[in-house]
Amino acid sequence: MKYVIVIPDGCADEPVAELGGLTPLQAAKLPNMDRVAKAGVVGLSNNVPPALTPASDVATLSLFGYDPLKYYTGRAPLETAAMGIHLGPNDWAVRCNLVYAPDAHMRDFTAGHISSEDGAPLIHVLQKELGGKEVAGGTIEFHAGVQYRNILVWRGHSETSPLAGTKTQAPHDIPDQPVSGYLPQGPGADLLNGLMEASKPILANHPVNKRRVSEGKKPATQVWLWGQGKRPTLDPFAQSYRGKRGAIISAVDLVRGVGVLLGWHRIDVPGATGYLDTDYAAKGRYAIEALGAFDLVCVHVEAPDEASHEGKADEKVKALERIDEHIVGPLLEALPRYGAYRVLVEPDHRTTLRTRAHAHGAVPFAACGTGIAPDAADRYDEPTAERGALRFDPGWTLMNWWLG
Ligand SMILES: [Zn+2]
Repeated sequence: MKYVIVIPDGCADEPVAELGGLTPLQAAKLPNMDRVAKAGVVGLSNNVPPALTPASDVATLSLFGYDPLKYYTGRAPLETAAMGIHLGPNDWAVRCNLVYAPDAHMRDFTAGHISSEDGAPLIHVLQKELGGKEVAGGTIEFHAGVQYRNILVWRGHSETSPLAGTKTQAPHDIPDQPVSGYLPQGPGADLLNGLMEASKPILANHPVNKRRVSEGKKPATQVWLWGQGKRPTLDPFAQSYRGKRGAIISAVDLVRGVGVLLGWHRIDVPGATGYLDTDYAAKGRYAIEALGAFDLVCVHVEAPDEASHEGKADEKVKALERIDEHIVGPLLEALPRYGAYRVLVEPDHRTTLRTRAHAHGAVPFAACGTGIAPDAADRYDEPTAERGALRFDPGWTLMNWWLG
């Protein structure tokens, strides 16, 4: 049996006035996702436990069949895994955003969507100036990631860490707010605040930032540290789920990090950007190619989530239509070649255009394939899922059902 998961990140939404009172899934023309619905079932899955923050880290664990209440240790260690950085048992990973906060307000958590080409030298200079320093019983390392998403590693010399019990704030949730009310708190506050402060003068004088200012772009005025955690202990997917060997296609470190930690093979697709301009067709082609070598292939597309954060209903609809045409369609054509197969289309979490933010609540899924008896569903959208008989709450229990 071959298994394919397609994740249109954050696609689940509410009716939108701009779309004539329809949700983006309803407004979009999705003939291939509708084919999945007609041939199979449409239902609801609740991927974010009420106690946790709705985001791709928690929700992706659920979607891949792992209880986040048991396995989630923080966002940064998942990204660290995708970057190939090893964390030892006493080590902590901390998300290190390059941000634009010129007046002590969080003006831009992406520092003007800073490119990786501009971001890396800034992180490298921080590593040169601050890396290797002994702070609070551990050693500091800065690692350049993708664009504004970088990682700080604190390698502890013993089991105790000031980062345990420390509270930090995601910068994307405090747009234009004064940062003073959201600084790290608890035992690791001095460690994290100290590094955030130390980054300011180092970045201010860097030629990359000076050039960005002269080009009318936002400079990275400091790093913002958050999302810390230790390496989670995840049983390999093949061990948890009957020997199935998986592969993951995603442009987002966080999502492929979860895959990598489960022992899935990571496939890098040229032209995959993690943004609205991603090369959808290339992702479809690589997924089809991977079917030959793997039992399970997962394709994640970030674009619908990005469109939601930007409040662009038309772009969200367009992203969904491209996923349908260039990824779901070609996969449905290719799969019968392998005999028995199953398909799952499901976002990780809701991202609503109204709030431009992630939200709790169940998301619609569509599943079809060998041995799945069709229900009455003829479309893939939220109202159809609401009417469906299948509900997975907690959402991580869906995987065992879907694998059959
Ligand atoms: Zn998002």
